[in-house]
Amino acid sequence: MNAIRKAIDSMQGYVPGRQPSGSFVKLNANENPYPPSPKALEAVGALGADKVRLYPSSTAVELRKVAGKVFGVDPELVVAGNGSDDIFTMIIRSILDAGDTLAVVDPTYTLYEVLAEIQGAVTERHPLGEDYSLPESFFESGAKLKILPNPNAQTGTLFPKGEIERLVESAKGVVVIDEAYALFAGESSLDLLKRFDNLIVTRTMSKSHSLAGMRIGFGMSSPKIVEAMLKVKDSYNLNAASQLMAAAALRDGEYTAEIVRKIVATRDWFSAELTKLGWQVAPSSGNFLLAKPGHGEAEAIVAALEKEGYLVRHFDSPRLKDKIRFSIGTPEQMEKLVELLKN
Ligand code: PMP
Repeated sequence: MNAIRKAIDSMQGYVPGRQPSGSFVKLNANENPYPPSPKALEAVGALGADKVRLYPSSTAVELRKVAGKVFGVDPELVVAGNGSDDIFTMIIRSILDAGDTLAVVDPTYTLYEVLAEIQGAVTERHPLGEDYSLPESFFESGAKLKILPNPNAQTGTLFPKGEIERLVESAKGVVVIDEAYALFAGESSLDLLKRFDNLIVTRTMSKSHSLAGMRIGFGMSSPKIVEAMLKVKDSYNLNAASQLMAAAALRDGEYTAEIVRKIVATRDWFSAELTKLGWQVAPSSGNFLLAKPGHGEAEAIVAALEKEGYLVRHFDSPRLKDKIRFSIGTPEQMEKLVELLKN
C-alpha cells in the first residue's frame, strides 16, 4: 500500500538555496551581509529561564503591537509567522480548497506553487513580458488567490503602485502582495489595506533586518482573513527568542534604514560594474541582481565561483537558466567578486 497522499507523492518539493558548511561568501539566498541591530542581539541575551521554560505567546502579542505601529496597521490585523513562508502556508491553507486555482507570474518565487500543490490546488503561471512587466492575463484571471512579490523575486522588478491597485481592485478573489524586498525599493502597498478587504500584504525580517536565521514574518489583512489565518496556524508558531529579537529589531528603524541604504548603494555599484563587463542586468529594486553573462555559460560561471568560495544562485528554469542571481554582499565582497568575474 502506498500511504502517501497522491498530491504529495507526485510532487517535487521546494528546493531552497544551499546552506553548505564551510566558509563561503553566501550570495545565493538573498540574506543580509550585515549583522542585525545590536539591540536585537541584546534582547535575546535577556531571554532567561522562564521565557525558555514556558510556551511563548501563541499569537506573539507584544511583537504584533510593535509591528502594527511600525507598519501603520491595527495590531489585531497583523499575523506573525515563523518566517513569511509560514504566512504563505496559513494563507493557502485558509483560502484554497483542493481543485481551486492560485495565479502567479513567471518567473517568481516558486514556494507559492509548491504550497498550493500540497493543498491539491492548481497553479496558473502567467509569463511576465520580455521586460518583466505584468501581463494582462494576470489581471484577467478569475483565480481565487493571486500572489505577487513586489519587488518580484529573481527578477528584482518593482511593479508600479497603480498596477497593484488595479490588480486588487479587479480581482474576484484574494490578492497577496509579498513585500519581502519592499524596504530596498522604498515603496509599499500597506496603505491599500485601508481600502481593500481582499488584500493581504506580507513582510519578512529575513532580508532588510538581517534575521533570516530567526524566521520571522508578518501577514496583514482584513478581519475575516486574519481570523481564518489564525485558525489554521501552528499553535506556537513563533518561538520566544524570535519574538524578542523581532520586536527589538523593528523598534531600531534607524539601524535598518542604514544597512538597507548601504545594500542599495552596493547593488547599484555592482550593477554598473556588471554592465561594464558586458553583462545584461535586469533593473532591480531588491537586495539582489539577475544578470546574463555577455559570454560564457551561466552554470559554468556559478561552478567556477563556488571553487573560489563564492556561492551564487542558478535556477534551472527556461527563463532563468542563462542567468545568475547575485545577492548583494558588502562592498569588499562585491569588489572581489567583480575581480573574479573579470577572469
Ligand atoms: N518571499 C520572497 C519573494 C522571497 O524571495 C523569500 C526568500 N526566499 C521569502 C518570501 C521568504 O522569506 P522568509 O525568510 O520570511 O520565509
